[in-house]
Amino acid sequence: MQKSLFIKLFVLFVSVNMSCFSLNAQKKSTAISTDNKITEKVLQEVLDQNKHFASQGKVADYIPELGKMNADAIAFSVVDTNGKVISVGDTDKKFTMQSISKIIALMVAVQENGEEAVFKNMGYFGSDKPFNHFGSLEITGKPLNPMMNAGAILTVSMIEGDGETAFQKVLKMVRFITKNNNINYNETVYLSEKETGHRNRGMFYIMKNSGLINGTEDQLDNYFKQCSIEVTAEDLAKIGYFFANECVRFDGDAIYKNTDLSKLIQSQMMVAGMYEFSGEYARRIGLPSKSGVGGGITVSVPGKMGIGVFSAPLDSHGNSVAGYQMILNFSKRFGLNIFAPK
Ligand code: GLN
Repeated sequence: MQKSLFIKLFVLFVSVNMSCFSLNAQKKSTAISTDNKITEKVLQEVLDQNKHFASQGKVADYIPELGKMNADAIAFSVVDTNGKVISVGDTDKKFTMQSISKIIALMVAVQENGEEAVFKNMGYFGSDKPFNHFGSLEITGKPLNPMMNAGAILTVSMIEGDGETAFQKVLKMVRFITKNNNINYNETVYLSEKETGHRNRGMFYIMKNSGLINGTEDQLDNYFKQCSIEVTAEDLAKIGYFFANECVRFDGDAIYKNTDLSKLIQSQMMVAGMYEFSGEYARRIGLPSKSGVGGGITVSVPGKMGIGVFSAPLDSHGNSVAGYQMILNFSKRFGLNIFAPK
């Protein structure tokens, strides 16, 4: 009798342990197999299935120099959970960061001044208006958020230093995050935007008029220069990875590790990174992302990986059409939506 009870208990003990073990094994293998499944072949499939969407968009030409971009170039890059970089398509193709530079400038400004000071005269709001909208300056006197132009111009003006110092700090941070010292800005695109960016100049002077900005037009030039920094899709995947992982670089360098900062940046990407499309984007893709009118999008998969895409033709909101479709397809395949994790 006692012996059979002992055997029963023993069998129960073994089976409970076995099921725990298999659960753990299952958990582990899901994480590993996701990474294993992200291969060049899969990325190439995603690219091939979605590149035709580029024909639905239009290359930005309100900055004349951008209008010369090749509409056919397309690239897709991922930095996986182990920091491994996988890229397909026109991986060497450089394009200007444009609005994606806003998240880097925000990082530098907050590092120097603290979040409270940076957001003293700026909101955390989303918007139903395009990136160059500045109506809030008339109503509340403050930019809506640091992701739209008005807030981004204010943000870079808060970075310490004369002349192009603030821009140099942003450039240095982009080089650090991507571990790519060859990154520079495109002088021709910069001059083209400086010459034609009257609307941005208008916002700069409205903020100067209300005392939000005190410096000279060098500060506006810094904004134009940061927008003209040239990167590849791979650089954008590394940036996405960095903010997804508490500001730790893809190779594990943790010198800037800062959870508060990565939370701030990713939340801004989520509410305003895709401008007035951000709400719908969050609904469909559910990942913090930042686009630029150069055709790039950087995506952070919180705690996991980074995605970088490039395709110049844009939709009516100024977001890359094929880039969006590639991200949608890829995130569905791997269940990356943070509102419905696999
Ligand atoms: N340089 C561009 C501008 O200020 C950036 C806008 C964007 O990428 N959405 O108009």
